[in-house]
Amino acid sequence: MRFMIKGHKWEIVTTAEDFYLPKAVCGYTDFNNRKLFILNNLHKFLYLQTLLHELIHAIGFEYNIPLLYGKKCNEKLVDKTALVIASFIFASLVSFSDDFALLLKFIKVMFKKYLFVEDTFVIFTYTSIIHSIIKKGAVYYDKRNTSNNKQSE
Ligand SMILES: [Zn+2]
Repeated sequence: MRFMIKGHKWEIVTTAEDFYLPKAVCGYTDFNNRKLFILNNLHKFLYLQTLLHELIHAIGFEYNIPLLYGKKCNEKLVDKTALVIASFIFASLVSFSDDFALLLKFIKVMFKKYLFVEDTFVIFTYTSIIHSIIKKGAVYYDKRNTSNNKQSE
């Protein structure tokens, strides 16, 4: 799936392979090629959290917020922020499953509050992605040891 941030094309690559990913992570942001790699065998919640984590890096990169990407990145902040947003969404999955407009408003509030992002296009694209995850209905079995804190990079 492709989406735009500040006029730049990004791509989400869901991969079964660990090949593209550093060891023991569920996701990875390739800033040079503007790609987010996410493992596809993750539990729906972990998939969502990982996707949000990598998206925050991508937003940090495009908006030049050093706290959110690169060498000065605060990984803990990025991961906890992704966790908080994913938790809010996941706790309310049923209410949003057939109401795209409501989900859109919800994501808008979440992104403004936690990411200071009000980019309508990013919010719409992201709502579409999250909606498609909800619609899938499938809960992937997480084969990885999720007690490991190093979930994403
Ligand atoms: Zn990270």
